[in-house]
Amino acid sequence: MAASISDILLDWYDRHARDLPWRARPGSPATEPYRVWLSEVMLQQTTVAAVKPYFEKFTARWPTVEALAAAPEEDVMAAWAGLGYYSRARNLVKASVAISELGTFPDTEDALKKLPGLGDYTAAAVAAIAFGRRAVVVDANVERVVSRLFEITTPLPASRKEIRTRADTITPSDRSGDFAQAMMDLGATICTNRNPRCLLCPLSDRCQARASGDPARLPAKQPKKAKPVRQGQAYWIEREDAVWLVTRQGTGMLGGMRALPDDGWSARGDGSGDPPHEGDWKPAGMVTHTFTHFTVELSVLAHTNSPQPVGEGEWWPLEKVEDAGLPTLFAKAARLVTA
Ligand code: SF4
Repeated sequence: MAASISDILLDWYDRHARDLPWRARPGSPATEPYRVWLSEVMLQQTTVAAVKPYFEKFTARWPTVEALAAAPEEDVMAAWAGLGYYSRARNLVKASVAISELGTFPDTEDALKKLPGLGDYTAAAVAAIAFGRRAVVVDANVERVVSRLFEITTPLPASRKEIRTRADTITPSDRSGDFAQAMMDLGATICTNRNPRCLLCPLSDRCQARASGDPARLPAKQPKKAKPVRQGQAYWIEREDAVWLVTRQGTGMLGGMRALPDDGWSARGDGSGDPPHEGDWKPAGMVTHTFTHFTVELSVLAHTNSPQPVGEGEWWPLEKVEDAGLPTLFAKAARLVTA
C-alpha cells in the first residue's frame, strides 16, 4: 500500500524540522502550552525572523502565563512595540488573565476558542501542538501547500472551505501537532510563494499542481483593492530634553500604546490638520506607514519653544525615546525629528 501523505511528511519532518525556540524536537514531549500559544500569536502576520527576539524577550520577562497575567498592560504593549497588530497584545493580556483564573490551560479547540483573541487557527494550533489533539490547522503556508497538492483553482478567500476539507482528509490522528508544524515548514522552506522547490519536495509525486505544471500560480487570489491613503499630522512637543507622549485611548487602532499626539486621523478619514494649540510649529518632515487596510502619510510638526502639553500623557526623556515602546509609525516620526 502506498504511504499516506501524512506518513511521508512526518518522515521528512523528522529529518528536516526547523529548530525554533518555541518548538519541541519531532516526536519529543510537547512544549508548554504557554510558549506554543505565545509563539502562534506572535507569528500571525509576522515572520519567524522578526518573532524570535520578541519571543525570547517575552519568555525571559514573563516566563509563565501567570507572570504575564500579573504584568501591567502598558508594559506588555511597550514590549510588543514594533511587532504590529497591537490588538494581539491586548488580547494576550486578557487571555492570560482568563487562563490564570481558570487555574489550568484549556486543552481543547472549543475551550481555547472561548479565550479572548483565539480564533480557529490559533485554537487548532495550540490544541494540536501543545496537547496532541487531532485538529485541522490551516495557516497561509498550509493554504498554499494544500491548494497546490489538490490543484484548487478557486481563488482565495472563496476556496477556504475546500482547502479546509482537503486539509482534514490528510491530517493524521497521531502526531497531529508535528503534522501541522511539518506543513508549516514545508510551506515556509520548500513550497514557497514564488519559486516552489519541487525537486526537493517529499510530496512531489503526489502533487497535482506540479503534475500539470506551474504550481506557483496557486493559490489563486482575488485581485486586491488599492488601499486608501489618509493624511495626518503628529506633534513633537519638546521641553528640557523631554518629549510629550500620550497614551492612545480605547481598544481601536494602536489603543493603549504610547504615541505622539496627533490630529485625529484614522482608517476612516484624514486628520483635522489643526495643531492642538497656537504656536511656533515647525515642519519636521513626513513619514509613511502602511497598515492592513490603509496607508497614512503623517506630517510631523515640532514645537520646542515654551510648548504646552496636549491631553493625558507624560514627559519622556529624549535620550530614552527608543525605550518608550512607540509603535512603528511613531518610532519613525521620532527618528525623523531626532536624526
Ligand atoms: S511538489 Fe512543489 S508545488 Fe507541490 S507541494 Fe511540493 S513544493 Fe509545493
